[in-house]
Amino acid sequence: MFSHSPALSMRGITKSFAGNVVLAGVSLSAAAGEVHALVGENGAGKSTLMKILAGVYQPDAGEILIDDRAVRFLRPADALAHGIAMIYQELSLAPHMTVAENIFLGREPLSFSPLGLINAREMNERAKRLLDDYGFKLNPRSRVVRLSAADRQLVEITRATVEAKRVIVMDEPTSSLTAHEVEELFQLIRNLKSRGLGVIYISHRLEELEAIADRLTILRDGREVYTGAWGEISSDEIIRHMAGRELTEIFPQRSHDAGEARLRVERLTRAGKFSDVSFSAHAGEVVGIAGLAGAGRTELVEAIFGANPADSGEIYLNGSRLDVKQPARAVKRGLGLLTEDRKRTGLCLNQSLDKNLTLANVRALVKNLWLERRRERAVAREYIEKLHIRPPDPDKLVGRMSGGNQQKVLLARWLFANSQVFLLDEPTRGVDVAARSEIYRAINRLIESGAAVVMVSSDLPELLGMADRILVMRRGRLVVELKARETTQEEVLKYAAVEESVELGSAA
Ligand code: ADP
Ligand code: MG
Repeated sequence: MFSHSPALSMRGITKSFAGNVVLAGVSLSAAAGEVHALVGENGAGKSTLMKILAGVYQPDAGEILIDDRAVRFLRPADALAHGIAMIYQELSLAPHMTVAENIFLGREPLSFSPLGLINAREMNERAKRLLDDYGFKLNPRSRVVRLSAADRQLVEITRATVEAKRVIVMDEPTSSLTAHEVEELFQLIRNLKSRGLGVIYISHRLEELEAIADRLTILRDGREVYTGAWGEISSDEIIRHMAGRELTEIFPQRSHDAGEARLRVERLTRAGKFSDVSFSAHAGEVVGIAGLAGAGRTELVEAIFGANPADSGEIYLNGSRLDVKQPARAVKRGLGLLTEDRKRTGLCLNQSLDKNLTLANVRALVKNLWLERRRERAVAREYIEKLHIRPPDPDKLVGRMSGGNQQKVLLARWLFANSQVFLLDEPTRGVDVAARSEIYRAINRLIESGAAVVMVSSDLPELLGMADRILVMRRGRLVVELKARETTQEEVLKYAAVEESVELGSAA
């Protein structure tokens, strides 16, 4: 199908918007059968570079070469005609059309009727075959408007694979996908590679790139700061290149002394998820929880919060027993939870920043049955300032904010609700390096105000940089406690991943 798919290259691409230089002489190539990872912080220019490749924007200088011949893409159709398709970061589907219609938009199989009508049945069948082939569980006849963000993303991906004949660009395609869907996507990417397609893949998630990338280009402030084979430089070096800063600046220093126990968990057990978990978290302390996917970490923090209560065991907050069957109780007692999937369970995306921020403690703003709107805004301003939330606009729709700032809104929510124990589940997932650094600062502010933080993270550099103690979970059990300053990623991984047989052997 893709018998002839030579390399494509962009050379010396420069682009300004209204006098702001967004790209300065950037080069990037896509080779057949190769995944080229493009990384950089938010605003580095990744999407703009790819939109130039897709014919959405024209460069001010530089050229695009195919088969060593310069081509010009004045509109997306020109790029498509050369077999270049893009999965946009901001989805580009027609909401009121069906899944199949979106996949084949502009290239619908025609019926043989004299009227040349679109053959809906054939289109649906072809869409079904493709979706099944990719392992995406979607009905071709569903209307896109009814789909979840993740399912829309799968439609978008499928559509691009139909269009792409030479190069497919994926701009942060996994931000709304579950781990399982990400695995399906990677399978698909391997498949596209073997068919000779070039893949350009944009992501913040280095652990994702680890699984699929062949080459790497790093952009910073519109400049290409590194290009090389994947694996030539370490992830620490990648982060340094992206941020232009040292890791010590990314993980700000904290001066604290751990105080009294804020949270104590004793022999907490939930059948099939985790068992016999005991630990405590003190005022002024970050306790990190490491482990592989499925080790029971999310289930544990949800049980502490009361969202999915434990079967047995005890939880103490500031020394007194917490009988959580409902999160509302936990909140009243000063517990706050930041979930892994902040978009689905934490935030009301179509509500303003101030409404989201005050949600867990609206009571404090009600006087004589009136919601004090002025106070609500004042509170919002106070926390915008405290946690450096951007943009600093209480009316901003949360759905329009960046991932890092959404996360800060959630932290602010629990701060305003007087939380003293913060349970953070993957607080920086899908967030770029600069915003991550700000989330870390926000966490340190919580700590300095006397809170205790329990942080689940799969990002080992983050755990080592932020936590005081690291508890490692494996298959629902706490297997070891390590001092963050005295351990290494390798040691944490060893405990998280060790095989059962080895475990039995060493226990003997
Ligand atoms: P990335 O994808 O790496 O996060 P972008 O390419 O989206 O970065 O943005 C790079 C810079 O260009 C940002 O400062 C952004 O605000 C600016 N930018 C992007 N698109 C436009 C546009 N259409 N008009 C003006 N500025 C833009
Ligand atoms: Mg982008």
